[in-house]
Amino acid sequence: MNIKIPQEIKVGGHAFKVVLDNIGEGYGRRADIDYKRLVISIVPDKVYSVKNEGFIHEILHAIDTVYLSRKIDSEDIIEPLAEGLWQVFEQLGIEFDFSGLENTSR
Ligand SMILES: [Zn+2]
Repeated sequence: MNIKIPQEIKVGGHAFKVVLDNIGEGYGRRADIDYKRLVISIVPDKVYSVKNEGFIHEILHAIDTVYLSRKIDSEDIIEPLAEGLWQVFEQLGIEFDFSGLENTSR
């Protein structure tokens, strides 16, 4: 099942813009979240499973920030949670479709 990722996604009362972006020189990264601009960036040229897990990862960071006042704020916890959630989604036949997103790469 393909799920189209919208250009804007709300976490709490905050609308995060979702874009494709190579995150400048961000070598080796797959995604990023910018809380000042409320932008979630997905690096476009990654394998689908990496992009999908990366999207979940940044959403978890957003949930942690909006609802938990960054009580987690730890890659050691966010990382396995994202991997675990993505593994279950993949098992259920869920795949994210990023084709509707703006590419803001420089
Ligand atoms: Zn992270």
